[in-house]
Amino acid sequence: MRDIIATRHKGRRAVVTGAATGIGRAYALELAAEGAELVLADLADSEETAQLIRARGGAALAVRCDVSAPADVDALAEAVQRLGGADILVNNAGIYPMGPFDTITYEDWRRVLSVNLDSVFLLSKALVPHMRRQRWGRIVCISSAMFHAGAPGSLHYVASKGGIIGFVRSLAAELGGEGITVNAIAPGLTRSTGTSTGVHDELGLFEAVTAQQAIKRVGVPEDLAPAVSFLVSDDASFITGQTLVIDGGLTRA
Ligand code: NAD
Repeated sequence: MRDIIATRHKGRRAVVTGAATGIGRAYALELAAEGAELVLADLADSEETAQLIRARGGAALAVRCDVSAPADVDALAEAVQRLGGADILVNNAGIYPMGPFDTITYEDWRRVLSVNLDSVFLLSKALVPHMRRQRWGRIVCISSAMFHAGAPGSLHYVASKGGIIGFVRSLAAELGGEGITVNAIAPGLTRSTGTSTGVHDELGLFEAVTAQQAIKRVGVPEDLAPAVSFLVSDDASFITGQTLVIDGGLTRA
């Protein structure tokens, strides 16, 4: 992470979910490097991310929050409101269990939809009122290139990420007149804590996916963070309801 010298997000407070580790941490560090104050919401402890930000002169608060639990999201929203409200929301927290259709139980389905999609509704519902009052706000949700590819082996995940694309299109239409933009990015396979500890390596997914990309290297969180930072900036004030695919040219539709 760069030192806090840029000011694109100065005076803005950003909530990033799933920021304890993985790609969410990269989003938080990038926004902090551009001057935003961070609230880091994660089921796991985000204090390490917060300390990285503070060590470089930024401001960050770590809050334990299950983004699929309405009571946790309410408590998070109250804490954020006490700080003065959120200007920016990055809905990043997500889970991606893998397995064929036959092996997915209804409980698996509900859990993935709840963490990946209900959370986007709950967080937006809780934080948009402040954005509305100040007539400025930015929401970025994290979809997946797997939706565009219609990838097999994780249909609850792909369905949840498709739901996000519908969500941002529709909410963008409702909030566009109030200075609030709602967009998504759809990353391809990206090296992160989750993909480094899951089955991705064992299955040889990185090699297989990289071979299909136009740009033949493995994606890293730093490929995604600048795009999120752009979408939540004033520079992107005329962009809303969109999903930007960032996958090294895997999908080219
Ligand atoms: P990761 O597993 O490395 O990190 C996810 C973070 O979310 C963790 O800190 C975890 O504690 C947190 N989290 C999980 N469930 C939560 C809950 N209920 N409440 C709060 N926090 C919770 O994952 P990642 O690879 O960094 O992925 C981040 C996002 O990017 C996810 O939405 C994922 O679907 C999406 N994505 C990832 C890839 C990839 O290849 N890594 C590709 C496309 C999209």
